[in-house]
Amino acid sequence: MTSNSNLDPDNWDDFRTQAHQALDDAINHMQNRNNDPVWQPVPDDVRASLKSNLPLKGTPDDVLQDQMRETFLPYNVGNTHARFFGWVHGAGTPEGVIPEIYASAMNANLGGRDHVANEVEKQVIDWSRQMFSFPQGTAGLVVSGTSMASLIALKSAREKHGGLGLRATGVGGQKKPLVGYTSSETHSCIARTFDILGLGRDALRVIPTDADFRIDLDALRTAITRDISDGYQPFCLIGTAGSVNTGAIDPLEKLADIAQEFDLWLHIDGAFGALVILSDELKPRLKGIERAQSLAFDFHKWMHVNYDAGCVLVRDGEDQRAAFSERPDYLQAAHAGLAAGNPWFCEYGPELSRGFRALKVWYQISRFGTERLGAHIAKNCAHTAVFCARIKVMPDLELLAGTGLNITCLRYNPGGLDEAALDDLNENLTIELQLRGIAAPSTTQVGGRLAIRVNITNHRTEMADLEILLEQILLIGVELTD
Ligand SMILES: *Cc1c(COP(=O)(O)O)cnc(C)c1O
Repeated sequence: MTSNSNLDPDNWDDFRTQAHQALDDAINHMQNRNNDPVWQPVPDDVRASLKSNLPLKGTPDDVLQDQMRETFLPYNVGNTHARFFGWVHGAGTPEGVIPEIYASAMNANLGGRDHVANEVEKQVIDWSRQMFSFPQGTAGLVVSGTSMASLIALKSAREKHGGLGLRATGVGGQKKPLVGYTSSETHSCIARTFDILGLGRDALRVIPTDADFRIDLDALRTAITRDISDGYQPFCLIGTAGSVNTGAIDPLEKLADIAQEFDLWLHIDGAFGALVILSDELKPRLKGIERAQSLAFDFHKWMHVNYDAGCVLVRDGEDQRAAFSERPDYLQAAHAGLAAGNPWFCEYGPELSRGFRALKVWYQISRFGTERLGAHIAKNCAHTAVFCARIKVMPDLELLAGTGLNITCLRYNPGGLDEAALDDLNENLTIELQLRGIAAPSTTQVGGRLAIRVNITNHRTEMADLEILLEQILLIGVELTD
């Protein structure tokens, strides 16, 4: 039985000691991370230790801290390591721990009301607006990631084009069903958004791409005109700035022209690629992004804010508010006091209670500045270019896709194997690299072939890490074909 009548520490001095220990554990882990395997499977006994009955009684803090230090920290996904190249993960920063401590101490709820945390989020949204040269009047939210950001953006688009009446009636009774357009390289979160919004996945017309994995503009135009003559209502066009397979950037300026011509809402999924805006040398590739009606991107990928944090920007903030605002009596704002501070963030998205994600974003941008963050993005792209060039001259390696951003798709091909055997070989090679803790690329399909996919959204990766990867692909490749 504890002496306390509430959930605060019995003894604040003891708590302070425990908290300092936690911080030391965290720093030790982060400082030595590159000496550990990139990834290691969760051992059976650790998995077993996480299948217990619901605790009816509390456990001492030092026991829990030992458990977290010994059995959680080593078995992470691996994205904090210099040789993590899988999917698209940000690498995070040790500095990111600091704002999390303050945010946790404040335990703020950013749904609304009048307190400083909301001002921090407004600042982060305004910085994002400035980054992408969106106009005054832009609204936005700091959200969990690009999936949520795209959902919020496309709900705003649905109501803008289908009418606010949809909020009451749903989409069932449409005379002219709403349809949208995107390329076959678009992230799966867009089709899921169409599903969630009740439009259905089939209402998302999937347009093929050109040889560089960018949306085919002629096919797009043909699809739009056909839908119009068939009695559909085209309402949105989704472009990608940095596709998840190859890093391709759709021709954004041309998409903006087509959106204007057909009166479509242009939404850009810029989950990681939009951050290229922070590099003077690379940002011309995003020309046209400033004309979008909405933009979704992640702070947790190429800006290395610790998970999770993304952002939605909506050019005409009123469109976003109109799609979500719902203020019952108990949430009415007052002209002064704690219930002031209009408008409230809960009017701009589906969530009422919202944590203080904005603080770690504010801290990251303030601490490093956009120039330094942008320089790491440029470094990743420069390394990718060298990596691609190395692959091209290596006899047993084949470059399947490399579009000059940060993603390389390759395969080991010693000759004499059919396509099915090559697929198996490269799948197994990727798994071996992961199991041995050497590096963690992922796999994808490029033109029907299984590729080892190397994505660099990692400020810790150096050329030497990519050399190790190449060397090990060749070594393990030989081993697996012997
Ligand atoms: C990661 C990613 C998403 C999804 O973003 P989350 O932050 O994981 O929700 C969408 N599109 C692209 C291009 C991505 O890379």
